[in-house]
Amino acid sequence: MDYRLPTTVVPSRYDIRLTPDLDAARYTGEATVRVEIAEPVTEVVLNAAELAIQSVAARDASGTVVQGSAALDEAQERARLLFPSPLAPGAWQLVLGFTGTLNDKLHGFYRSTYKDPAGVMHTIAATQFEATDARRAFPCWDEPAFKAVFSVTLVVPERLVAISNTAIVSEEPSGDGRKVVRFADTIKMSTYLVAFVVGELEATPPVMVGRTPLRVWAVPGKSHLGRFALDCAAFSLDFFEKYYGVPYPGDKVDLLAIPDFAAGAMENLGAITFRETALLADEASASHAELERVADVVAHELAHMWFGDLVTMSWWNGIWLNEAFATFMEMLAVDAWKKEWERWTNFGVSRAAAMGVDGLLASRPIEFPVREPKECEAMFDLLTYEKGASVLRMLEQYLGSEVFREGVRRYLREHPYANAETTDLWRALGAASGQPIPEAMDGWIFRAGYPLVTVEPDGTGVKLSQRRFLYLGDDAGDGAAGEPWRIPINLRASVKGGWVDKRLLLDGPETHVTLPATPDWALANAGGHGFYRVAFAPSMLKKLARSLGKVAPIERFNVVSDAFAVTQAGHMAAADYLDLTGKLREEGDRNVWTVLAASFTFVNRVIPESARGGLEAFVRHRVGLAAARLGWEAEPGESELVRQLRGDLIRVLGTLGNDEETQAQARALYARYVEDERAADPNILPAVIAIVATVGGPAEYAEFFQRFRSARTPQEEQRFLFALGAFRDPALITQTLERTISGEVRSQDAPFLLRAMLSGVHSRALAWDFVKQHWQTMATQYPGSAYRRMYEGVTALISPEWERDVNEFFTSRGIVLGGKTLDQYLEQLRVAVRFQQREGAALAAYLARTPR
Ligand SMILES: [Zn+2]
Repeated sequence: MDYRLPTTVVPSRYDIRLTPDLDAARYTGEATVRVEIAEPVTEVVLNAAELAIQSVAARDASGTVVQGSAALDEAQERARLLFPSPLAPGAWQLVLGFTGTLNDKLHGFYRSTYKDPAGVMHTIAATQFEATDARRAFPCWDEPAFKAVFSVTLVVPERLVAISNTAIVSEEPSGDGRKVVRFADTIKMSTYLVAFVVGELEATPPVMVGRTPLRVWAVPGKSHLGRFALDCAAFSLDFFEKYYGVPYPGDKVDLLAIPDFAAGAMENLGAITFRETALLADEASASHAELERVADVVAHELAHMWFGDLVTMSWWNGIWLNEAFATFMEMLAVDAWKKEWERWTNFGVSRAAAMGVDGLLASRPIEFPVREPKECEAMFDLLTYEKGASVLRMLEQYLGSEVFREGVRRYLREHPYANAETTDLWRALGAASGQPIPEAMDGWIFRAGYPLVTVEPDGTGVKLSQRRFLYLGDDAGDGAAGEPWRIPINLRASVKGGWVDKRLLLDGPETHVTLPATPDWALANAGGHGFYRVAFAPSMLKKLARSLGKVAPIERFNVVSDAFAVTQAGHMAAADYLDLTGKLREEGDRNVWTVLAASFTFVNRVIPESARGGLEAFVRHRVGLAAARLGWEAEPGESELVRQLRGDLIRVLGTLGNDEETQAQARALYARYVEDERAADPNILPAVIAIVATVGGPAEYAEFFQRFRSARTPQEEQRFLFALGAFRDPALITQTLERTISGEVRSQDAPFLLRAMLSGVHSRALAWDFVKQHWQTMATQYPGSAYRRMYEGVTALISPEWERDVNEFFTSRGIVLGGKTLDQYLEQLRVAVRFQQREGAALAAYLARTPR
């Protein structure tokens, strides 16, 4: 089947007029599309889905009108406009009258609802078109390469606000209680970037960035929570104009918080939509992690205004470049805005997450062929965003940041208002750097996986070798062989008490690096920017473990993260890994603690109930020292990162470590917080709430549910919502599970709550039974992208029996999650069960001993 539209008829301009009826959840529309017809046609094929097309007419330049009709093909999401006589080549206008429904699936033109403080329900109409849902709002050529100018008119009740991609040019009463709001022409852009939002909304006062007014919109009573995002957006917009060397391509920027939103945010030109947690925050009561999320998403979407909106991928196989680049630029902007956040160090956590997926046999290349547009929905994943951004960062560091920026500028200058391919960026970067970029990058972009670089002492120097890293490599027979990667190596060796730094390109299976003497140890990924893992000869790792305090936090992070991955893959004993973590009890970096805690959590999911007490004692031993050092009170002048680390450590100690003293303190602090909200540091409070839930009963549950419902900030709402999934009493777990399909939890959040409950050792059995029972209801209620992510929780169902059950469930129900998503989840589960079978007895013995 051919998935691409014919190119005999090409649109250049859409005049769209929509009249939504929010109460009835319907709208009527008219689209006048200016097209160029290349050869005589009696049929015009374009996209439409879930629409009824009532009238079709074609008008040529002389004013001759040909009446036609429409035939809809819902399976193909296409409309065929049929004409009794051929339309001659040349310029035509197609005039289409249609009607549609405001759906509840958070895509196309959809309905979002919220209750005001008085409990009255209100409705907002909003859009989400990427990747292929503009066709659900109006008939169009819904492929990214069919760029056109959009002129939008919305007819709405006078009391409502109407927003689209551009500034309002006129607003006139229509005489029937409604107004006709006309928007300026957009730039030439793709259909997936068009947006409409209608509802009762309020805005922050505009901030001018150069000539561009910037505002944050929210439901009434919440716009004051937009100030933090506004600061970040003002900085980012200016930063990007300077970085790209191209002015912002639109005429205004509105950032809109939508109460129901499937993704994190969407880069519609000039009308960027967000879920509330990604845009609104009270700076005084939000934690560092919560604010960082807002800053990341805001910067990311603004980066897209150029990279994605001004220059767009030709087809969905290029989506990685859009997303990888925006993710890379988001880091760059946030790092420039808040140097003290050390954003690139924290990016190590994202890089490691991508490596977790890319180490699977079921991984895929970053860029791979997309035929059916639906396939691209599954590409919004860690490989597209995080692996993509990682390899761009590696390239930037390799070429130098100035040269890299020059290449990006060149690329934007060469393709404005048009489409481009990955090779176009490589060409521009090649021209800027004078280096052969495709040769260097192809292995990272067009091949799945990444290398494991092994460092071993070798005479006076080291031997470096590479092979593919795979969690299941041994079972697969092969997989480890294949073309070598071209790996930029930053070697830092400890030689005779000093350091020797060397840069080289490892492009063969192995190489010898000569040093003044045999090193005690050598890092192969100094600086931590490389997208590869490193394994050390055991003697070297022993010496390095004693010197960890001397290397940078990102390097320590990588040593731990790589060691744990190598352990999961079966190349290192779990006991040796757990011993290594004993060298980090005084660790002061938050990211290193993130990877340590993640590995302890994994072990907790693998061990039998009888070993739980041993694991808890082990966690208390590992975390206790650093937690005690930080205490419960923030010191004046302390960095945000230290404050956040304090919260992180308290959480691990009080939940995973089941530490009674921490739990008692958390309860006491929560009681004080109830009396006076300023009693708890915002960086500790989320941990305190989580701990109180794990030791709480029905009274705490009832209170948390109430607080979830009456929360004043999106962050507060999320803390209490996820806490509802952390109670350990089976009756309370069941209550929360029931709420995921009762309508009490938004469909944008419920799948993520379920994922968390499938992952928790106390809730996973009940959660899995619940999902098996209600998956069809969930598939109907939840937005597709979130429904897919919910199933990631099955990777925590670690036992041979569960694994069989999980496999049987997916096979017998014929559940399709798109792309390789399901294969990846099942392989991750396989990795964990194999680890359990291999290490279970050794872990039980290890954890039965007094920690040391
Ligand atoms: Zn993006």
